[in-house]
Amino acid sequence: MNKRVYLFQEGNAEMRNLLGGKGAGLAEMTKIGLPIPNGFTISTEACTDYYNENRTINDDTTAQIFEALRWLEEKQGKKFGDVNDPLLVSVRSGARASMPGMMDTILNLGLNDESVEGFAKKTGNPRFAYDSYRRFIQMFSDVVMGMSKTYFDGILDGARKSKGYVYDYELTAEDLQEVIAKFKAVYLEKMGHEFPQDPNVQLMEAIKAVFRSWDNPRANAYRRMYDIPYEWGTAVNVQAMVFGNMGDRSGTGVAFTRSPATGAKGIFGEYLINAQGEDVVAGIRTPQPISKLQDDMPEVYEQFMTIAKTLEQHYRDMQDMEFTIEEGKLYFLQTRNGKRTAGAALQIACDLVDEGMISPQEAVMRIEAGSLDQLLHPNFDVMALKNGRVIGQALPASPGAAAGRVYFNADDAIAAHAEGERVILVRQETSPEDIEGMHAAEGVLTMRGGMTSHAAVVARGMGTCCVSGCGDMQVNEENKSFELGGVTVREGDYISLDGSTGKIYLGDIPTVDAGISGNFERIMKWADSFRRLKVRTNADTPDDAENAVRLGAEGIGLCRTEHMFFAPDRIPKIRRMILSDTTEEREAALNELIPFQKSDFKGLYEAMEGRPVTIRFLDPPLHEFVPTTDEEIMELAKDMNLSFAEVKSRCDALHEFNPMMGHRGCRLSVTYPEIARMQTRAVIEAAIEVKSEKGYEIEPEIMVPLVGDKKELAVVKKVIVEVAEEVKKEKNSDIVYHVGTMIEIPRAALMADQIAEEAEFFSFGTNDLTQMTFGFSRDDAGKFLQDYYKSKIYEADPFAHLDQNGVGQLIEMAAERSRKVRPDIKLGICGEHGGDPASIDFCNRVGLTYVSCSPFRVPIARLAAAQSEIGLMQAAKKN
Ligand code: ADP
Ligand code: MG
Ligand code: MG
Repeated sequence: MNKRVYLFQEGNAEMRNLLGGKGAGLAEMTKIGLPIPNGFTISTEACTDYYNENRTINDDTTAQIFEALRWLEEKQGKKFGDVNDPLLVSVRSGARASMPGMMDTILNLGLNDESVEGFAKKTGNPRFAYDSYRRFIQMFSDVVMGMSKTYFDGILDGARKSKGYVYDYELTAEDLQEVIAKFKAVYLEKMGHEFPQDPNVQLMEAIKAVFRSWDNPRANAYRRMYDIPYEWGTAVNVQAMVFGNMGDRSGTGVAFTRSPATGAKGIFGEYLINAQGEDVVAGIRTPQPISKLQDDMPEVYEQFMTIAKTLEQHYRDMQDMEFTIEEGKLYFLQTRNGKRTAGAALQIACDLVDEGMISPQEAVMRIEAGSLDQLLHPNFDVMALKNGRVIGQALPASPGAAAGRVYFNADDAIAAHAEGERVILVRQETSPEDIEGMHAAEGVLTMRGGMTSHAAVVARGMGTCCVSGCGDMQVNEENKSFELGGVTVREGDYISLDGSTGKIYLGDIPTVDAGISGNFERIMKWADSFRRLKVRTNADTPDDAENAVRLGAEGIGLCRTEHMFFAPDRIPKIRRMILSDTTEEREAALNELIPFQKSDFKGLYEAMEGRPVTIRFLDPPLHEFVPTTDEEIMELAKDMNLSFAEVKSRCDALHEFNPMMGHRGCRLSVTYPEIARMQTRAVIEAAIEVKSEKGYEIEPEIMVPLVGDKKELAVVKKVIVEVAEEVKKEKNSDIVYHVGTMIEIPRAALMADQIAEEAEFFSFGTNDLTQMTFGFSRDDAGKFLQDYYKSKIYEADPFAHLDQNGVGQLIEMAAERSRKVRPDIKLGICGEHGGDPASIDFCNRVGLTYVSCSPFRVPIARLAAAQSEIGLMQAAKKN
């Protein structure tokens, strides 16, 4: 026999994986002697069995369930299914991690047409008995049978209205009997069979429904969002009922030991008299604040406060509790560490340290790193948001709140921004050419594209709010208008975007700026004292760099030089360079670019004040820069003294079938060494000048992208070293510089030992490395990944969370091999993963030197790095 069922007496808080969060909590509360209705938990392993055994509950588990039920009958002195005095139970789901609202609870199970009469007699309260039964029918039909709630709500509404009542509790016993008859009739009509009368059947069906709900689309979507593995499964709790709907000395409520919104100390809670289960949350009646309980039932209030305090001290964290009062007797039904906003989490962690309940190390572990995002972007004014009109909703691609006037192309957005307007850029989809426009915008809204689309990735990088993939929206870029939610929005109209929810509002909703408060700083300081892994930033402009430094960045891990070429005063020059026929022409065009590049780099060095700066040489395929409209081609033709046709044909010649694997990265420098020459000169001259002007110790790090072979790097490196030494001589400087490479092609990981002979540092470009390892591109994966999630092939987007099993192996191997050749090699990561807590943990464990992420994710990375290190320390202690 495999043990699959545990009495609350048999469990404790440590058994969360087996009993689920709710089961472990009920067991722990039972253990410390709190008033908990008796019950038992069917373990998560039984759920795994259920799925492994073709969605059935095996005989062994069934026997254990009924054995536990016999025990419960004995404890309660009532028999399950007894027609005179039936034992009633609740069936409650509870996974390891709390998944609020994902799986529903069934109350009053065990009632049927006969026992409800006995129940009415026994309690002397027919109204209560029928109320319990109608609730049970409602919940069973909805949760177990999947019937729409609307049938039952409709019947209930009708009953209330025909009697002129406002609230359900006004319904009399007779009214409720009529309601029950109607409920059962609609059940028969829709389901094709009578409402099940056998309590054993009711129980097993309910348990199966909970197991089944683990796999419903809502649950799957939630798990993907919060990285909860499918294989965990859920537990089921079966618990004797206590009744909050027995009359005026009964009730039910929920409470927090501190404010989940702000973290402020003091009990925050609400309750309803004469109510059951979720009535409080359902919002039909307005609940009373918990303080009112002091007047209503002083002894109960006193006891409640004592228990709440006990629980908080026991768990040493803010508790979210559910309780029920049955005829003046208090029961607790749930406790858990309460969910909270990031701001509240910081407040509570700091307060608990000050109260001597936890150590700074524990405080650091308590903050969910990803949640800090909420604090780093401006937010909407809460009151104003409530009154806002939602016209649509799409993917919450980049968090933050943005309000401004709508513009439909980058140029218009830039122009409006220059006039001092707040701008929302609306596009069908964005491309690299829109970058300046995106930078100028408060927020970006696109019709196409997923969470890892160009718009989404770039917006997150910039910390700009973005809502993407709004398929309901019809964008007419020519007419400069879009239609959504029955509204036509034209250029210059105000809209507001909530990048955290994906909601799109009409009008100009005011925002409040995000601040790094005292608690935030305190936690960050603690985090820094525990971490080993350095945190750098991906930054292309001095603004981004300064921002990142303010948020704690210790260097630049990736400066993408191509982003510097899209500015209106530069793009013609780079186009001329690209379309040049001869090396001389190309060099001439490139020479014009040197001053621009140099001033960019100087700006970065100055912003970084001597912190390390890694500059990546030109990476994208050249066709990304070429003109697309006839107008632009004409202009370029004039500029280059060529015919329109000539320019057009040269542009066309750059077309590639698979640009992602085409002429890009270091391949460009192999073909056109003059590009590397120009960039080297700009990097070194800028460093020498800033060093002498500002006195910073600068050691530029030049990074060659997309290398797959040692010789490839050697060829490019030779060009770099030649020019760098030349510049040093010219300027009479002894500046130190470093040449390294990105590891973003699987072959480079395989050949890492050889490549390390040439490279002084590696940076894992995990965006490309992921694409190339999986063999699908980030831009196309959105189309089919949904099907992969549905088929349970992949649980998460490998572009958002590093694939530690596959891509991770390559990283680990490359790290190991390179260290053999060059023990002091600096290893970093600069893909999107550098800002993802789970991926950061991986980077820390394999011993990378630093992670590099977008400026707004720097605090997240600092915290995640600390948590990873503390985790390692704790694991080491255990062994
Ligand atoms: P959720 O996970 O959605 O919070 P729960 O299993 O906690 O669902 O159940 C919701 C509510 O149902 C509880 O807060 C409680 O009010 C009520 N409830 C559950 N079990 C019982 C019970 N045995 N007796 C009385 N009320 C119960
Ligand atoms: Mg609950
Ligand atoms: Mg790359």
